[in-house]
Amino acid sequence: MIYYLGLGANLGERERTLRQAIERIKKIPAVKLLRVSSFYESEPWGVEGQPNYLNAAIKIFTMLEPLDLLDELQRIELELGRIRREHWGARTIDIDILFGAEISHERLTVPHKFLFERDFALIPLAEIFPALEFKLHGDKVFRVNGSSADFKFKLVACVDKNFGLGCNGELLFRIPEDLKNFRRLTLNHTIIFGRRTLETFPNRQPLDERRNIILSRSLKNFSGAEVVGSVEELFNVLDAAEENFVIGGAEIFAELIPYAAEIFLTVVDAEAQADVFFPKLDEFNLRDVKKFDGFEFRRYAR
Ligand code: ATP
Ligand code: MG
Ligand code: MG
Repeated sequence: MIYYLGLGANLGERERTLRQAIERIKKIPAVKLLRVSSFYESEPWGVEGQPNYLNAAIKIFTMLEPLDLLDELQRIELELGRIRREHWGARTIDIDILFGAEISHERLTVPHKFLFERDFALIPLAEIFPALEFKLHGDKVFRVNGSSADFKFKLVACVDKNFGLGCNGELLFRIPEDLKNFRRLTLNHTIIFGRRTLETFPNRQPLDERRNIILSRSLKNFSGAEVVGSVEELFNVLDAAEENFVIGGAEIFAELIPYAAEIFLTVVDAEAQADVFFPKLDEFNLRDVKKFDGFEFRRYAR
């Protein structure tokens, strides 16, 4: 089932807490994070005299029963330091199920009972759920620039007909036109990749004339590149105004595709033996295709 969740924080390091909550939701077994909205600053709703909120919405797919999902979300609220005091009062984090399969239970009402009265929930939600019909109420809700949800990663890969990416730690193809296209896209920008992808580079060295960032839990440092240990740490070092290209491998694509804005795929007209695959593109639409002899360049966007 698809669910839309609303997150809000108004105590502590709000942006960091939202990021942490999103990364923890992503790690719930049987939950797939599909999409993350921008972050929005909003005035308190319901109870005045408390700090402003930072709000976001996310889209997930899960096989969990709704009440089991609620249990997981409440566990994450507690882990991130939520203490339930006054109803609608200040909190480090609130995670509500806004929309999804309808349910009316003493512990859970979906759609959320106040969704259509709250601009702070509707505005982030509308960004990732364009088909939603609603009326706004003129509340103050402002999109925040440069928040983690705002990085608009671009994913770049070369795959076979079945979206196979690699086999035994090697790339499936090395096509000169594709390598040239990759260079043209990424030159003077930021590239983000995993440790195993580094192994596929010429001489196993970072690529020239680009900011190289390695996302790896095991590696501590590497000459000529920056190393980050988690997606949260990645957000801390990135510049949202830059062009940030995610270039593999499969695990890194899966980690960052919920935050991606565009995908550039070179699809080779062949079926190769592969043991790793590009993640599913359900949330993306094909926007351009350029056909060549034996392969094509495709661009996808939301
Ligand atoms: P509000 O629900 O008005 O946004 P709140 O989020 O501050 O207020 P919480 O203290 O987070 O309220 O939750 C109170 C109870 O609301 C939870 O224990 C939960 O069982 C119940 N609840 C009912 N529907 C939902 C929903 N759609 N999402 C999350 N919690 C819900
Ligand atoms: Mg709430
Ligand atoms: Mg709540």
